[in-house]
Amino acid sequence: MESLTESEFENLCAEILEKLGYGPRQHPQNYKDSGEDLRMGLEGRTMVVECRHCPGKTIGRPTVQQLHSAAIASGAKTAMVITTGKFAKTALDYAKDVSCSTLTVELVDLSILRDMAARANVASSAATDNEAVWMHKVFDDEEFAQEFGEFLNRRYESHPRSPSQMLTILTRKVQLYPSYEVQFSLDAAFKTTIGVIHRESESNSILLLSGVEGKAIRGEVADFYRQFIPVHYSSETPENGNRTVIPFTLADMAARQVALREILRSHTRRVSYLGRNGRVYEKLCEPKEKDVIITRMRRVYLPGSTTTFRIGEKEHTETHLDNPAGDFRLLNDTDILTCSWCGNLVKDEIPQLCNACGAITHPKRLLSSHGVACKDCGMTLCRNCAVFIRRFIIKSPFCKECAEKRANRKVTKGTSQEGRSTTKTRTVRKIRRVRPLNKTSG
Ligand SMILES: [Zn+2]
Ligand SMILES: [Zn+2]
Ligand SMILES: [Zn+2]
Repeated sequence: MESLTESEFENLCAEILEKLGYGPRQHPQNYKDSGEDLRMGLEGRTMVVECRHCPGKTIGRPTVQQLHSAAIASGAKTAMVITTGKFAKTALDYAKDVSCSTLTVELVDLSILRDMAARANVASSAATDNEAVWMHKVFDDEEFAQEFGEFLNRRYESHPRSPSQMLTILTRKVQLYPSYEVQFSLDAAFKTTIGVIHRESESNSILLLSGVEGKAIRGEVADFYRQFIPVHYSSETPENGNRTVIPFTLADMAARQVALREILRSHTRRVSYLGRNGRVYEKLCEPKEKDVIITRMRRVYLPGSTTTFRIGEKEHTETHLDNPAGDFRLLNDTDILTCSWCGNLVKDEIPQLCNACGAITHPKRLLSSHGVACKDCGMTLCRNCAVFIRRFIIKSPFCKECAEKRANRKVTKGTSQEGRSTTKTRTVRKIRRVRPLNKTSG
């Protein structure tokens, strides 16, 4: 856009305005004496336009003032100054001050012009910005194993080994999901007879849109990626063979329309206000297309990984988001938070990890524990792996090793003729017999 001549720039502006519905462009003969560059629209909704092609320069108040006078003289509804530069604050303030219901003054700088051009589907230099594809970074396999291990370590009660010591990663598949990252600003004030009752305002906010379905991506996925800055996709060649790229099926222009609709929809509010007469009124405050400026739109791949891993003997599959800039998030953690004893989700408690088999259970409780800990060595155990030995009137859990040690101790101490038992169940039974003896002697 920067390389255009003065008249090419005027033609481009006219083309954009026509496509956005401000047309038709009037023949210059109709207004050659009044000084503006373009006149658009028919009688009753005429717009006068001043085009200033001056990249990097600032337009001051006098230019706006001149056009405003010309607009009044010609009875236009709108006066618009379009520039490839920017506007001085005095110019912006002036435009705001003189705008009224019969004549609005609109100032269009380069970023707004690019947005208009894109909306009108007119090629400008903005179009080339969109050709590059970006992506959010993911951990490489080694970093991932490390990070995931630490993540599990924070989640479980586990003794003597930590979850990371029991972790084996089997496969990790990274999928690059296509999205549009739309950066926008919005400013809409809603007036009634009592004045401004509501204002919707956003500055450089980010909206993520699926590049497949064209739906807004919200919730934790959007929250997660909004924290990080994407890198060029071309510079980030896959480091390992297990990446799949899902292609974009939503075209840039369609995405822009969807984004605009979504922004308007999500900023529409029903507002109640108190009228002068003391009564409460309701008004639907719906921003208009012109209140939104899309300042940047780019294609970004959002990576998500599906990992199959083993903790002890138990296999799990989880989907998660990660970023080497420092965060890791599971999208659905029900599998690794489900108690293998009762089948329910462990909520508001720290689950424990059986060090014998890797089962995840509710933590040990006073009564009806789903997870227990060996009375001798403290090893965390599920009920399946624990050996229960009756001590006094309650049964206490022990790990296999400690239970065997105890059995051997009792056997060598006692006078049993059976000798050392080789099977676990027999060991337990014998201990139960030995116990009461112990009680009477002690
Ligand atoms: Zn349970
Ligand atoms: Zn177990
Ligand atoms: Zn033990």
